[in-house]
Amino acid sequence: MERILISACLLGACCRYDGKSKAAAGMEKLTEKYELIPICPEQLGGLATPRPPAEIRQGRVITEDGTDVTRQYEKGAQEVLRLAELFGSRRAILKARSPSCGSGEIHNGLFDGGITEGDGITAALLKSVGFEVFREDQIDSLL
Ligand code: SF4
Repeated sequence: MERILISACLLGACCRYDGKSKAAAGMEKLTEKYELIPICPEQLGGLATPRPPAEIRQGRVITEDGTDVTRQYEKGAQEVLRLAELFGSRRAILKARSPSCGSGEIHNGLFDGGITEGDGITAALLKSVGFEVFREDQIDSLL
């Protein structure tokens, strides 16, 4: 079976900044076709759960109270890449709009609910080395 990385919060793990999960539909079907490798880059980068929400602004990851957490986000991305190489994964299903996992669109850095074009830190790193990245609303194309 092909091994695909997946944001752990989409599988129901309570690893989000608010201590909750974001379980997505269709995960059981995915497990029939793929071996899913759960990852949470923000936890792998050493951040606590729960943690302050963060967004990307001018290339840096900043929490709502102004703390620069870019280093932890980059460390988490590197850890995800290391695990991907260990497991031989070349594709990933990542949670939409997250500053780590977002693909194609992310929050705009103003904490006002706005969205802008861009990738989260982990999604960008994976794409830069040739990964195909899917959002949870794109899993039908994998089934
Ligand atoms: Fe989910 Fe990714 Fe955020 Fe972890 S970093 S909670 S996997 S969206």
